[in-house]
Amino acid sequence: MARKGKQATISTTFERIRYENPEPNIARIVLARAEQRNAQDRKMLYEIDRAFRIAVADDDVKVIIIAADGPHFSAGHDLHDAEDLNNYETVSLWGGFDEDGQAGMMNGEEEIYLGFCWRWRNLPKPTIVQVHGKVIAGGLMLVWPFDIVIASEDATFSDPVVAFGVNGHEFFTHAWELGARKAKEMLFTGGAFSAEECRQLGMVNHVVPRDALETATLEMARRIAKRPAIGLRLAKLAVNQSLDAQGQWTAVQSAFALHHVGHANARAKYGYPVEPSGAELIRNDAKAGKSQR
Ligand code: ZN
Repeated sequence: MARKGKQATISTTFERIRYENPEPNIARIVLARAEQRNAQDRKMLYEIDRAFRIAVADDDVKVIIIAADGPHFSAGHDLHDAEDLNNYETVSLWGGFDEDGQAGMMNGEEEIYLGFCWRWRNLPKPTIVQVHGKVIAGGLMLVWPFDIVIASEDATFSDPVVAFGVNGHEFFTHAWELGARKAKEMLFTGGAFSAEECRQLGMVNHVVPRDALETATLEMARRIAKRPAIGLRLAKLAVNQSLDAQGQWTAVQSAFALHHVGHANARAKYGYPVEPSGAELIRNDAKAGKSQR
């Protein structure tokens, strides 16, 4: 297939993801860290961003699918990953990743969490996320920035990080995705919502059997790809700008600041940026079956 655009200059070598073109006009980014339940380390996030740059720069690509290998879509941030952000070619103009106090952590989360999510939310081509299994906390940051959500019947969605003494994961669009009351329920209880419940709330577009997930997603992508790129881009911008006009970006930034009040509070109390009892609380809920509702 003839390539147009400038994507040829971007490296296509990946370790944490695969970049595929399953059909003409369709790109697919697959999270390929199944053994770690697709926990996101810094390397994975930068590879995802690079894959988006390839897809956006390729004029033949009209729709981008985000999918995942393994039994679960994503277990969230990889909390064992402590690689220095200074080793990466950062994408925002934030720096100060080594600063003392809360500042260094806030600067880092601005770059790799809030920064990436907002950048991906605004990329000017339709994105479809194909979700199965568990999506936990930071895993939602690889679902909510995207345009269309197709989930299999086994998919569940949760953000249990209130147990860590913070308001929720770093891309705080919960109230926009679920409505205010259900957002509070997800956050206060740490419980998992089913794909069907999320569909009823408007967070998920379609729920399909697990073995039909890939086909249903490709079918949607194929249908979208028949439309002109300019129309798709303008439609996406128009819907996003409607959310912007309602103050979404301001709300997300203010929730990010509250998130860092939580991290700073834990750091002041325990010398560690989250409530130390949080992990045990989440584990015990999971053992007692309370992570399901
Ligand atoms: Zn955080």
